[in-house]
Amino acid sequence: MDDFNKLRKSLRNTQYLVIIVMGLVVIGFALDFLAVQKTVSTIEENAQPMALKTQYLVQNLKGDAMETWYAWQPRDNLKIQIVDKDNFPKEKIDAIKKAIMSTETIEIDNSLVFKGDEGTYSTYWIGWKGVVDHIRELRGIETAMEITFTDKDDADIIITLTNSKSGEGLSGLTNSLVNDEERTILRSYITIYEVDKLSNEHMEIIIRHEFGHVAGLAHSTAPEDLMYPVIQTPAPYISQCDIDALLHLYTGGKTSQVICEN
Ligand SMILES: [Zn+2]
Repeated sequence: MDDFNKLRKSLRNTQYLVIIVMGLVVIGFALDFLAVQKTVSTIEENAQPMALKTQYLVQNLKGDAMETWYAWQPRDNLKIQIVDKDNFPKEKIDAIKKAIMSTETIEIDNSLVFKGDEGTYSTYWIGWKGVVDHIRELRGIETAMEITFTDKDDADIIITLTNSKSGEGLSGLTNSLVNDEERTILRSYITIYEVDKLSNEHMEIIIRHEFGHVAGLAHSTAPEDLMYPVIQTPAPYISQCDIDALLHLYTGGKTSQVICEN
């Protein structure tokens, strides 16, 4: 082989090498791109907007379905039972208790719920204990409501957790038993479905919503409110609008409807 041929061969080898390296670089980029795409789609899947379907029923002692307002009689204590709570993770039970017992508030940007400009905020309540105390204070009631959890059968509110699926695809259901003549709520039953599939956060949100029904509220007409039939709001907390509806109901207003205006 003469020198010229040697040179040509080595040049060709170099060319092959360059082509192979370029090929690897292209494949590398393609794999990277796919990996990025996959990460993005995983994030999007996880950040799926929540849509928790709920329903509530009001029944009188004869079992007839009622479609009007009811309220609890004035009282200073409320007992809650979480049936078979030891069969479920402690974190889920803690999420339930937080939605009921928290007295804390949270500020949420109004633009998230189409209520106002970015950078303006509204206050929401995290738990019902805080709301009840706040409303009692507004009404000039000096004692705080005592809310306790019990394992006995004397509870006013009974929460049942189940891993079975609701026929209607519900996440939560509240059924209140009422005295029709006195317009009072006697007892409320909350059922939470498919508990194992719910995150702790979703459990907290559903209980927060169902407790609105327990308190006597109907559904809200505003999709961005906690009391909308399908919970889908980016602000799943107790709003001023929910509080206004409760104040109205407990100061003689004859409606349980939640009407939210911006
Ligand atoms: Zn509901």
